[in-house]
Amino acid sequence: MKEQELLAEIQKLREDYLAAYETMTVKEIQSHNSAIEDLQSQLSDLLSEDAINCPNCGAKPYGILKTPVIEVGGAIEKLPIYEVGCIVCPPFEKDGFRISYGSRGNTPEKAVENWNKGLLISVPTPK
Ligand SMILES: [Zn+2]
Repeated sequence: MKEQELLAEIQKLREDYLAAYETMTVKEIQSHNSAIEDLQSQLSDLLSEDAINCPNCGAKPYGILKTPVIEVGGAIEKLPIYEVGCIVCPPFEKDGFRISYGSRGNTPEKAVENWNKGLLISVPTPK
């Protein structure tokens, strides 16, 4: 499945859950949750395709869509921001910056490219 199809499927499962959770059995809820987790894992794999393993610990990176595109009356409200990064390594501080083991881009390919180049997310540490 492609990104938009996966996002639509996840959204649909969440809506189904909200509409029916009061009458669902524990088993049904568990099966529902694992279906969502499976789709999210497929989405993560898709968004981090071709990304190298974490340069620090060697873990397989995740890929996520940080800011979903919201269309209101045909107008796009927000640009998407994709992030590829390591779920294992904690952020660290260096030269007044807080650096996270992750990279961003406006497309999945750009986020992967930045990650593969080692362009990590860094924000100034608040004083
Ligand atoms: Zn790592």
